[in-house]
Amino acid sequence: MSTRRERFIEMPRATPGTLRLLKVVTWGEEDAQPVVYLQAALHADELPGMLVLHKLAERLDALDAQGAIAGRVIMVPVANPIGLAQRLQGNILGRLEFDTGRNFNRGHGDLADVVAERLEGRLTDDAAANGRRVREALAEAARQMPGDDEAAWLRRSLLEMAVEADVCLDLHCDHEALLHLYTTPGSWPRAAGLAARLGCEGVFLADVSGGHPFDEAVSRPWSVIAERFSDRPLPDAPLSATIELRGMADVDEALAAQDADGLVDFLRDEGIVDGDAPPLPGARCEATPLAGVEHVRSTVPGLVCHCVDVGERVKKGQCLARIVDPLASFGSGVTELTAGTDGLVYARTHHRMAAPGMVITGIAGSEPLPGKASGALLTD
Ligand SMILES: [Zn+2]
Repeated sequence: MSTRRERFIEMPRATPGTLRLLKVVTWGEEDAQPVVYLQAALHADELPGMLVLHKLAERLDALDAQGAIAGRVIMVPVANPIGLAQRLQGNILGRLEFDTGRNFNRGHGDLADVVAERLEGRLTDDAAANGRRVREALAEAARQMPGDDEAAWLRRSLLEMAVEADVCLDLHCDHEALLHLYTTPGSWPRAAGLAARLGCEGVFLADVSGGHPFDEAVSRPWSVIAERFSDRPLPDAPLSATIELRGMADVDEALAAQDADGLVDFLRDEGIVDGDAPPLPGARCEATPLAGVEHVRSTVPGLVCHCVDVGERVKKGQCLARIVDPLASFGSGVTELTAGTDGLVYARTHHRMAAPGMVITGIAGSEPLPGKASGALLTD
């Protein structure tokens, strides 16, 4: 018998006469452990993750029919119906909320302090029981977050589901990019398997990247709680990662099928799906510090002419792009943007008209860059 359950949850109405629905699909028995939570397109115009979850759902249905879902899967295939409806002249603009200008993947509740407060005197010498208490406290704190308007409701509802999980995967994409992921140093040994299964070509580590992205809202409380109650045992903290499924135009059935297969193998490694996964493929990259990522910005407006493709290794001083002022006299008006560090070009803009301050190229270096501070490592 199928364990698949689907719910369409009514979101609070933003305007009279409108109704949005958040779809949540689960596989596995009600209380089965371990739990994976997956969501796609929190930045609503980042579409590859939706296709990957579509392919993953097909595979989970087939596995479910064989009785092979050992744990539980919670999936939100379209995590941001608000942003997805933000159309302007044929374009979806799903990164920032139209109404407030807020980034949909920033400002996710920092539950660490409130939960640590509530756990005072309640943890014992039993790691598994402590883990359950932490998860209950996190879920309760998430439920008590404000949720009157639809964006706040969405933040609260997604987090409430995600804090239950042992693995939380938030699927995004970049403009034009290699497959890469963001997670915490504490998650790295476990995330190495995930990265290898997906064929990640970049892994960026930071304890606090800044602005409270969704993945850190799930993982951060655990490190704060472990520090505060260092005399009490805790189970493994959840593995929480933001996965960037290449570039925005990489909505491709063959790639999505490959990614979904990689995720199924990873779910086998994690004991969420029964059966042995094939041997772990070799890692395609080392993990590097998020503080080693250089976001090379244009200093001028003009046409973006990239000089390097994603996947190329560059040296400090190498030309990355030429920004051409279309109004300049012939032979002038070209500004060269150069690399400030050695590293791998993991992403570049898909825009072809630069504005001053716009990020043109992303380079992953192996060492932290001077001036990069914890808590201010992401672009907005
Ligand atoms: Zn994103």
